[in-house]
Amino acid sequence: MTDLLASLNDEQRQAVSATPGNQLILAGAGSGKTRVLVHRIAWLLQNTDITPYGIMAVTFTNKASREMRERIEEVLGFPARGMWVGTFHGLAHRLLKAHFKDAKLPENFQILDSDDQLRLLKKLVKQLNIDDERFPTKEIQWWINGQKDEGRRAAHIQAWDPQTEAQLTVYSAYEEACLRGGFVDFGELLLRAHELLRDNQHLLEHYRERFQYVLVDEFQDTNTIQYAWLRLLAGETGAVTAVGDDDQSIYGWRGAKIENIQQFEQEFSGVRTTRLEQNYRSTGSILKAANAVIENNDDRLGKELWTESDDGEAISLYSAFNEQDEAHFITERIEQWVEQGHRRDSSAILYRSNAQSRVLEEALIRAGIPYRIYGGQRFYDRLEIKNALAYLRLVISRNDDTALERVINVPTRGIGNKTVDVVREFARDHGCSMWEAMQQVLQHKLLTARAGNALISFMHLIDQMDQATDDLSLAEMTEQAIEMSGLKDHHLKEKGEKAQARLENLDELVTAAKVYDADEEQPASPLRQFLDDAALDAGEQQAEENIDSVQLMTLHSAKGLEFPQVFLAGVEKNIFPHKMSFDEPGRLAEERRLCYVGITRAMEKLYICYAESRRLHGKESFNGPSAFIREIPSSVIEEVRLRTQVTRPVSAVKGFSSVHAAADLGVKLGQRVFHQKFGEGVIMAVEGAGGNARLQINFDYEGSKWLVMQYANLRPM
Ligand code: ATP
Ligand code: MG
Repeated sequence: MTDLLASLNDEQRQAVSATPGNQLILAGAGSGKTRVLVHRIAWLLQNTDITPYGIMAVTFTNKASREMRERIEEVLGFPARGMWVGTFHGLAHRLLKAHFKDAKLPENFQILDSDDQLRLLKKLVKQLNIDDERFPTKEIQWWINGQKDEGRRAAHIQAWDPQTEAQLTVYSAYEEACLRGGFVDFGELLLRAHELLRDNQHLLEHYRERFQYVLVDEFQDTNTIQYAWLRLLAGETGAVTAVGDDDQSIYGWRGAKIENIQQFEQEFSGVRTTRLEQNYRSTGSILKAANAVIENNDDRLGKELWTESDDGEAISLYSAFNEQDEAHFITERIEQWVEQGHRRDSSAILYRSNAQSRVLEEALIRAGIPYRIYGGQRFYDRLEIKNALAYLRLVISRNDDTALERVINVPTRGIGNKTVDVVREFARDHGCSMWEAMQQVLQHKLLTARAGNALISFMHLIDQMDQATDDLSLAEMTEQAIEMSGLKDHHLKEKGEKAQARLENLDELVTAAKVYDADEEQPASPLRQFLDDAALDAGEQQAEENIDSVQLMTLHSAKGLEFPQVFLAGVEKNIFPHKMSFDEPGRLAEERRLCYVGITRAMEKLYICYAESRRLHGKESFNGPSAFIREIPSSVIEEVRLRTQVTRPVSAVKGFSSVHAAADLGVKLGQRVFHQKFGEGVIMAVEGAGGNARLQINFDYEGSKWLVMQYANLRPM
């Protein structure tokens, strides 16, 4: 049995060994909140007569709950069976499963994810004859989920305007459809779990008696219904330990309420509040930067963080030429880090939005560095990207059945499962491709007129796409395919963060295609090459759990985690803070909290990177450094100045350092050159040697291109 209290400071020790009662631990990043929670549970199990059965712990992600259980068992030295550890959603699901009858659900109720939910809503909108141009379904979905997060059912709402009226009509119909079909969406899990306890006194009493201790991590990101559920479950007898940091509330846009922290103090009886101020995670410089940034927010509950560790290394600020250069720089620094004997998974690259991962992923793949995307998919595995590529694959080859099956009815165009079944069967029976089968099926009139017409339009669409894209560059072709297929409109009509991300990713695919157009050594079919490369990227197995890999994730997914080395990529105006945060009050403060979360993930070394020009979502922009960078005191920042010294070994290939390769060729990295067609630019990287050496040049107006040295006819400026 380890001495649980030995490795804690005084405040932590008091919180861990406190007598029963409600507790609030309000403290900044890296001050040991999660550690206190884990130790509290272990301490209770060791020193009181409580068993694992009497404890419930709520975490923010499933991964966090697995880790929490592991840590508790590690500290205890035995398995904590019977203890409930999970996310709010996971725990609600468990309750509903156990008491499906009381919850008025069928035994095998089915969870609807947000795509299923949208599909069902679309069907209802159509049935109800609601104008989906005026009231887009995605908006209705957003609204319904918002109502559920606030604990409101359709019956509780009154509509005073046409929009609410339409939304409410759909909400009612949706509730009925879910009831009939036995469907439960994410918001419903929480809402129904709340109602279950509220309306069944015997159950409430049972669980109140059972869970004498409830512990909640990341409390600042609970929403109204989660709070209400907790309040109900705890009653006057339960002891709730809430752990949180108002400065890390980053899910306001999804209904999280920072106010729950104050409400907790007021509504729960005898709350003992502990503030932890010592940070154990980061160096002095990193902490100073974090403190300085978050100070710019108003309405904070106010905490100061200090550390005993020394300042450590300064924060490196790298101003890249463009996103490629940024990715190269990061990859190189990771290579150096690994050469110094560190593990790869001790490095994390964090970014504001999903689409930013593409360039980073490509650079890592090129450098042969295994990576893992945490809490998300690799770029070429994403649904919208696979869909867009499937259209391009059909343009190249009509007989690509997988591509055809993927998009034949995406976006929906009235080709139902039955029609597809007929085609598939015909293809199987006659040993032909589905495209050929479609032609035959039509010729032999094996379908209803309506289904037949839908097939004909689809085939037309692909043929037209083929013609339209005939003389286009690959990027234009990709753009055309995204437009003509209706994929763009499809995602435009949706609303919310996810749809926005999908659109951004589609634009990013166009950017990816541009790289091929810029390549002077054009492959015979750039499209084929593009598709093959994409397939390879997607096929690169998501690094196995046990392969040591660099961690990539959005800033949101990084909450609660820590890494010895952290790169914040794309810290630029319009990207971070996100351009959408300027319109809504409070959003900028939330972005700043996100920045605080990002900075405080770093333990030893923090890099902040921005690019002077960036191609993202298909557009080139010159954003300049984010305002957040200016909020960091210059005393803790060291600018990485590679260009003036020109000692930057960019993207060393097969043992050749770029610098040496460049010197051998008589050019210098960072040198300005003139090209007949593309104008002026800067040499950014060199690959290979001799006559076939290739240079990457960042042109002022044409962006980055790879040119073969011996044909490029460059003139030094
Ligand atoms: P966040 O707000 O980011 O979730 P947190 O407050 O939950 O952070 P923890 O993750 O619990 O912080 O702790 C941060 C780091 O500091 C961990 O590596 C933890 O093991 C270490 N730590 C916490 N308290 C102590 C202590 N008293 N002695 C040594 N290390 C500690
Ligand atoms: Mg934590």
